[in-house]
Amino acid sequence: MGFENKRVAIIGGGLGGMSFLNAALYAGLKNVQLYEQAPQFGEVGAGVNITSNANRVLDAFGLKKSMTEKSSHQLPCYMEYHNYKSGDYLGHIEEFSHPPARLLHRAHLLDSLKERVPQSSLNQGKRLVSIDRNTAAGIAPYTLHFEDGSTAETDIVIGCDGIKSNVRKDMGLADSPNYSGQVVYRGFVEYKDLPEDTAQLLRKTVNFRGPKRHVLILPIGNKETQTDRAAIIGFMSEPLEAWDSESWMSRSDIDSLQEHVRDWCPQVQDIIAGLRKGSPDGKMLKQALYVRDPLDKWFEMKDGQKDAGIILLGDSAHSTLPHQGQGTCMAIESGIALATILRHWKGEDLSEAFQFYQDLRKPRTDRVTQTSYEAGKLASSDSPDQLTERFNPEALGERMKWIMEYNVLEDLKEKGAEVLDFHGSKL
Ligand SMILES: Cc1cc2nc3c(=O)[nH]c(=O)nc-3n(C[C@H](O)[C@H](O)[C@H](O)COP(=O)(O)OP(=O)(O)OC[C@H]3O[C@@H](n4cnc5c(N)ncnc54)[C@H](O)[C@@H]3O)c2cc1C
Repeated sequence: MGFENKRVAIIGGGLGGMSFLNAALYAGLKNVQLYEQAPQFGEVGAGVNITSNANRVLDAFGLKKSMTEKSSHQLPCYMEYHNYKSGDYLGHIEEFSHPPARLLHRAHLLDSLKERVPQSSLNQGKRLVSIDRNTAAGIAPYTLHFEDGSTAETDIVIGCDGIKSNVRKDMGLADSPNYSGQVVYRGFVEYKDLPEDTAQLLRKTVNFRGPKRHVLILPIGNKETQTDRAAIIGFMSEPLEAWDSESWMSRSDIDSLQEHVRDWCPQVQDIIAGLRKGSPDGKMLKQALYVRDPLDKWFEMKDGQKDAGIILLGDSAHSTLPHQGQGTCMAIESGIALATILRHWKGEDLSEAFQFYQDLRKPRTDRVTQTSYEAGKLASSDSPDQLTERFNPEALGERMKWIMEYNVLEDLKEKGAEVLDFHGSKL
């Protein structure tokens, strides 16, 4: 039973696709190929926060040691808040759960996710352009067409190709992502490029909270492996008309970020100076923040066939604003859920398995999308009185507890008890 021998094609080798591939290997799916459009696997130059709920899954894959070598160690709290102008401490949120959040460079997380994956399942330079739904007997349900003219045949397609997903388009979903009203400026500061006091402060996860803007610092990596740096994410409200690049990702003068924070506290000025020291061309990454509305149905089935279909995973299905640090974490949770369900499904009807997966995941990812939007308003201050008097980090922490304390492995065991055959499972 289950679909363990079916040909599974993952489209996209970002953090979502790579997590699904790890999950597929862990669950025991036998015939999985990943297709990534870029000639080499890589990630945008920025930090990422992987929280308890996702670390539980990565630890099950055996990646704890590898991740620990590359990420922050023993941070004193989950997040500390400071007033944007005075620099005053406003309060903090305690770490939620065990294992604690791990902060690391995105490329280092990708390296960990690649460690256990056989080279033979990775295909680079394969940009998916279309999917044929074949009707003739005796051939595969789907033929994938890539930009380089090559093709591949498969039974199941997992669209992990991000918020602008081609797979999603190919499924006839014509909606567009929505601009959030914010852009993010992203860069790194070496601790040696900061005054000692500021360097000390930024070895914690710190949010300088300003009106409709905030500057978040993720202390990624660790001293032992010389991977430690302060990853800077400046969330700034800007009208889309000011965006002059066709892509959502571009490079911007550090001056533009400085313009936003000109009257902010000395520590933020130290950050700007540190960014300049680390950037010979005076530029940093700038990205327009988009999110999609939750989607009603994440999959389609092949006409007349019970065991072939296409499904979305990660940002292609459930994108979210990053204000609770959950986009990648949700993809990691979804990956283990989908792989386990495909491998251990008791029946033969793939649409039932897909539906079970969606019912398990969608209430949670929809809620994360909604609460991340709200958390963004609190992470900055959208009303002036929220800057100090009414701002309560503890309440903010309470709002996020349900995310971090969740254990998808337990949930799968519990909710899947009737429909999954856990024989041979590592769960
Ligand atoms: C500022 C910011 C901060 C964030 N911080 C966090 C955080 O701290 N923690 C967290 O959990 N999340 C965070 N996120 C969210 C996280 O970045 C995303 O949710 C996550 O990267 C989504 O992964 P994905 O693999 O679904 O999509 P993507 O990362 O977009 O990857 C898609 C992959 O598919 C490939 N691809 C695209 N089209 C094709 C095609 N046609 N054919 C083949 N390949 C294709 C792409 O090249 C890419 O490799 C943050 C996001 C932002 C913007």
